[in-house]
Amino acid sequence: MGEKGDMGCDETLREVERYVDGECLRELTVQVEAHLAGCTDCNDHAEFKKHMKLLIATKCRGEVLPEGLAERIRERIRTASP
Ligand SMILES: [Zn+2]
Repeated sequence: MGEKGDMGCDETLREVERYVDGECLRELTVQVEAHLAGCTDCNDHAEFKKHMKLLIATKCRGEVLPEGLAERIRERIRTASP
């Protein structure tokens, strides 16, 4: 109630998969970004997904990750574990 058509966390997290792949519809991208701007949990999740995507893309190209980035991703995985 009173959320002005904002997406909920569940919906945002579903769309984040496509959002980080750049496959989100334009309207959805705007809504996802609006939600991420105001929701730390979903924003963290989106950042994590972006890092994972970058990690996978880098590995697929056979490139070595910058040490700092690998550390940050490991840290994310550790702190994000249930
Ligand atoms: Zn959220």
